[in-house]
This record gives sequence, structure tokens and C-alpha cells, in this order.
Amino acid sequence: LLPAAVAAGAQASTLGVMGGGQLGRMFVHAAQRLGYFTAVLDPDVASPAGLVSHVHVQTDYLDEQGLAQMLQRCAAITTEFENVPAGALYTLGAHLPAAPGAEAVAVCQDRAREKRHFEQCGVPCAPHALIETPEQLAGVDAALLPGILKTARLGYDGKGQRRVATRAELALAWDELKRAPCVLERLLPLAFEISVILARNADGELVSLPVQQNLHRDGILAVTQVPAPNVPAGLSAAARDAAGRIAEGLGYVGVLCVEFFVLQDGTLVVNEMAPRPHNSGHYSIDACDVSQFELQVRCMTGLPLVAPRLHSPAVMLNLLGDLWFDADGRERTPDWAAVLALPGAHLHLYGKSSAQRGRKMGHLTLTADTPEAARATALRAAERLG
Ligand code: ADP
Ligand code: MG
Repeated sequence: LLPAAVAAGAQASTLGVMGGGQLGRMFVHAAQRLGYFTAVLDPDVASPAGLVSHVHVQTDYLDEQGLAQMLQRCAAITTEFENVPAGALYTLGAHLPAAPGAEAVAVCQDRAREKRHFEQCGVPCAPHALIETPEQLAGVDAALLPGILKTARLGYDGKGQRRVATRAELALAWDELKRAPCVLERLLPLAFEISVILARNADGELVSLPVQQNLHRDGILAVTQVPAPNVPAGLSAAARDAAGRIAEGLGYVGVLCVEFFVLQDGTLVVNEMAPRPHNSGHYSIDACDVSQFELQVRCMTGLPLVAPRLHSPAVMLNLLGDLWFDADGRERTPDWAAVLALPGAHLHLYGKSSAQRGRKMGHLTLTADTPEAARATALRAAERLG
């Protein structure tokens, strides 16, 4: 699928994305930069990606007319949101090249299937048990407590999770989660968290971004650092190798993020995966010569994959809606001018119409000559954000 600029005079191909959030928006930017047209399907009239796409199909994900419009317009399809029903991707993928494929997305949508896949690939994950029935709840192994109860489906940013220390708390938490199918995981002693973002094309060629080190607050990503300050070369190679096996085992095509825990004894444990570009890879727009979003475009279109090179050490700060409120809960606008006065500050705002606590409104990437300088700038930026 050649971009318009290559096929002179020809109509550019249209790339379709299911979901209109910030990941879709940054994908659209990358696709348009390479000369493609874009179509976004998202029910929200003001979705961040819908606002910048050539075409916004404003229907539900499973709406027949919406899917028919995407089929008619698009030359290839991707998703930016793993909770787009796999059924929609099966429908589109039956007629169009889809990266990632519906089957891979279906595995990622279900924590139980995801964990089975990790085990099949020989990559250790947290000790866990599936809880779908009162009998399974009653029979749960005491070694899994204290633990985290997570809904098997539809969780993100720490939503659909409860920390539990006792059987009584576990029973209460399952009720709170409406007795949905869940996975109970043992609470592990984390030293820190890392992620690997890779891109794999239809020929099985695979490239990955440098390993990211991630700090979460309240279950939501807060800070990503690259190079990862606490990760020796051996650990980095092991994580990239494990992520590669996980992708190959799925016959995966497209951009995949695999999140890992590093335990206090140095053991690497896989946490979860996301079948799409990931928040921990946003720094690649400003700090790498190929971004995770451009890699997704290249996977979808059969353009060459090249290994991304980190040209600047970077720290990324997520900008949550909390920044739009002062200590008394009154709305305010963060001081963008003060932040942008810092050398190496790259501000990305997603165009969301209203701020809410915990809502991802944008991110800020700080690049510098050295990791220390990037961290120092990030600290100054955080002070100026208030
Ligand atoms: P989400 O899909 O919401 O991102 P995760 O499973 O990644 O959910 O959990 C969010 C965060 O909670 C993780 O990044 C980690 O900080 C913490 N966490 C999750 N599972 C465990 C565990 N088994 N032990 C310790 N911490 C965990
Ligand atoms: Mg996570």
C-alpha cells in the first residue's frame, strides 16, 4: 500500500483505525505524515482521533453500517483500543488486511487467555487462579493471598481491580466486581516495572524500541524513562527476547506492548500485554527516529521495518486531568508557557473537551543529551505543572 506521495497523482490509500482516543490520534498523525488518508470509527462526536482524521465514522463498534463504511473506504485496518469488540475486527479482517489480527486481540482481551499464552511461550507470570464460580472462590489457594483480584475483561488503568489480603476481603471484592469472571494474582514484591514495545510484520520481521522503565501511580502510568535506569543489558535482552516469543507465538502482526515486573530478587515476570501502541512508548515520537505509531503504519502497509534508534535520552510525564484542578477543586489551566520554556520539552495535548481526575489529557516528553539532564528537566517541569 503505497502512500500518495510515492504513487504520484494516485489517490492515497486510506488506513482505518478502530477507536478514536489519543492513541488513534497519534496514529492518524503518523499515517498522514506518510501521505495516507485516515478513517476513524468511534461513537464519540468529539473523539481525539475523530477530530483530526479525514473521515470519522461515528457509530458503535459493532454497528453494521459503520463497519460497512470502514470496509468500503479502507485499504487496511488497525485498532487503538483493546476493548474494541473482537467481533468487529473479525468482520473487518475477513475482507481487509488487519494489524493486529482479531485472534491476537481476543487473547489480549482476556487476562486468563493471556496468561495461558505466556505460559505456553515459557515466559513466567504471577501465580494466579481463575475465579468464575463460587466454588472456585471458596477453593482458592491461600498462597495467592495477599493478592490482586482483576476482572478478566475490560480492565485498564487499574480499573476493575481490588487488592485483597484475606478470604473475606476476596469474597467482598468479587461481589463488588459483580461476580464477573476474574483472575486472582498473588501480590508480588516489585522492584520496578518495565515494558517492551515491538513491531512485527507479515513476513515475521521484528524490531523493538529500547526497554522502558515505568512508574505507576494508583494503577495509572505516571512516568516513563528511557534508557531504563535500573535495567542492566542482560535483563533488557531477556525482556526483549520474551516479548518476541510472545509475539511470535501469536503470529502477531503490528505493534505490541508487553509489560513486565522486575521483582526485588531480580526475577523477570510478565504482567500483561496490549495489542497496540502503548502509553509507555509515547516518548518515541520525540526521542526516536521512528515512533511506535509510524511502526504501526509500516506494519499495516508492508513498508520496511527499521530498528528504531533512540537519539535522545527521555523522560515522559503523563498529564492527567488532576492538573486542571487546584487544591480547592476549582478548574484551572496548567501553565503551559512555563513548561514550554524548558529546553527539550515536547508537549502533546489530546484535544479532550473536558478534564476529569485520572483522565489522560496529554503527555510531556523531556529530551536531553544525558539521562541525568532529562531527569533534571522533568523535575523542573513537574514543579512548573504544580
Ligand atoms: P491495567 O490493565 O489496569 O494496566 P495491570 O494488571 O497492569 O492493570 O495492573 C496495574 C498496576 O498494578 C501494575 O502496573 C502494577 O503496578 C500493579 N500490579 C498489578 N498486578 C500486580 C501484582 N500481581 N503484584 C504487584 N503489583 C501489581
Ligand atoms: Mg497495565
